[in-house]
Amino acid sequence: MTEQSELFDKKVECPICKKEFSTKKVKTSRLRLLKRDEDFLNHYSAENPIKYSIFVCPNCGYAASENKFNDIKKDQIGIIIDNISSRWNKRDFGGIRDLDEAIESYKLALLAGTLLKAKKLEQGNICLSLGWLYRLKEEKNEEVRFLKLARDQFIEAYNTESLSGTNMDDSKLSYLIGELSRRLSEKEEALSWFNTCLNLASTRMNPALNDMAREQWRLVKEM
Ligand SMILES: [Zn+2]
Repeated sequence: MTEQSELFDKKVECPICKKEFSTKKVKTSRLRLLKRDEDFLNHYSAENPIKYSIFVCPNCGYAASENKFNDIKKDQIGIIIDNISSRWNKRDFGGIRDLDEAIESYKLALLAGTLLKAKKLEQGNICLSLGWLYRLKEEKNEEVRFLKLARDQFIEAYNTESLSGTNMDDSKLSYLIGELSRRLSEKEEALSWFNTCLNLASTRMNPALNDMAREQWRLVKEM
């Protein structure tokens, strides 16, 4: 059960309709990490902040991750108004979110990102979070569906996009593609990406990641 005291309200101005709204965030001081899955999902003793990473404007329906919310360009505003706001039934995601509401917020962000032709890495991150939320909800089929969507977008990102200025580098992304492939039971694909990861000079500079890639490679070999 989520306690109100774990959360705080943040005021946000929507870059589309310019109205202000309130959205909840988890107090970082309240975060107690229990464990981390090999694809980087953090589990906490209480509320998981990924449930609140997407801001959704209750007035116009524009949704994006917190760190991308204001990145929208002037000439893209009409795309959101025409395709989302015009058919938006006003809903407020500013309260405590259950897993279903969190999932819905990410699906709205995925739709907005598709319309705005967001980078594959960003769309992949949204799909990965959706896979994680379904894991927390213990819905295996939907988890797998979104992990595959994430993995496929990450492969495109690895091959076609610059990762500079993002939370990813070649080492971490190739590891993650390998790990997601392992979870999808795609043995050859997983081995190939773990090998890619282990052969990068940047991976050898990162002993923790290097060890994880070796360990997960070994798990795949045993599949
Ligand atoms: Zn708005």
